[in-house]
Amino acid sequence: MTPPAGHLPLSTSSEQDAVLGRIAAVAAAAGPDGVGVFDLDGCLVDNRHRQVRILQELASQTGWHSLHRVEAHHIRDWDLRSTLTRAGVDAGLVDAHYGRIRGHWFRHFFRSEACRHDRAMPGAASLVRACAAAGLAIAYLTARHEEMRLGTERSLRDFGFPLHRPRHTLIMKTGMVGDDTAYKADAAVLAVTLGKPVLFLDNEPRNVNLYRERFPDALTVFLATDHSPAPDLPHPDIPQITGFLRSSDLG
Ligand SMILES: [Mg+2]
Repeated sequence: MTPPAGHLPLSTSSEQDAVLGRIAAVAAAAGPDGVGVFDLDGCLVDNRHRQVRILQELASQTGWHSLHRVEAHHIRDWDLRSTLTRAGVDAGLVDAHYGRIRGHWFRHFFRSEACRHDRAMPGAASLVRACAAAGLAIAYLTARHEEMRLGTERSLRDFGFPLHRPRHTLIMKTGMVGDDTAYKADAAVLAVTLGKPVLFLDNEPRNVNLYRERFPDALTVFLATDHSPAPDLPHPDIPQITGFLRSSDLG
């Protein structure tokens, strides 16, 4: 199944209700050594607002006003040029200055203080708190690098995600280099030191396929938000959700 493009965090369905019910059941049945492994970007956390802010700053600094057209809903993948086109940013501006726009985005996106512009996915913190209350150890497994730890921890706490060591751990890359999926494969093995991984959530098809393969007894769930340009699709047996809200949550 081809994942939908873009974030639909307020979308609900009976199928999603059923997957969220399975997550709760896995957490309740896991026992004291169970570990839930949660990705951040595009999964528990929505970083699109960080990206909009970065582009707004550049627009103001340069007077490239059409950059102000970019809003969060224009960000549906990791292709900045596609985002700019979708938003209706002046094509001549993009052609003339794409390198500088991309460079500005890159320099600012991976900074710790920029994480304050992130938002939690609706319902994500409630779900992680419920998993923790059921007894799961929580591993936040992200490809963000260690220099982003302070801002990442601050925003997780601000949104009410449990982050009390040693039961709740934030696993980050030591630097920006290296393949993210290979890093996550190694780090998922690290998570085993916390206990028995019983649950994986991630928005990257390659990652969920890896978890399904390496941890066949765990429940792996794919978040259909945005992901890298890699051509992989999530395995058809992997349940998908677009967010963390049940049909009854929005009244
Ligand atoms: Mg992700």
